[in-house]
Amino acid sequence: MADDLPPLGGPAVARTAGPSLFPPAEQPAGEGPVCSRKGCRRTADRQLLWNNPRIHTPERRKAWASCPDHVAWFEEYLRDRGLWKETLPLTADRPMETR
Ligand SMILES: [Zn+2]
Repeated sequence: MADDLPPLGGPAVARTAGPSLFPPAEQPAGEGPVCSRKGCRRTADRQLLWNNPRIHTPERRKAWASCPDHVAWFEEYLRDRGLWKETLPLTADRPMETR
């Protein structure tokens, strides 16, 4: 006997609970930092602080912005070269900490 299970999910159940009071928390277009990874246009939500002791004084920090997908890539890149210092969130009240 063939199983006669109903399809999982089925038609999407659109819950129309009135107009949305809260718009999705997206960055407005053209606002906010963009991922520093070449070719990536996603909004960055964290920053990688690094320092190159050959060209920077020890207290100097360079910062790269990264989207969630590339933060591991940046960390590996910087750690490989001994430049990585820390990874911090990048938010409106915590802007890029370049100094
Ligand atoms: Zn990215």
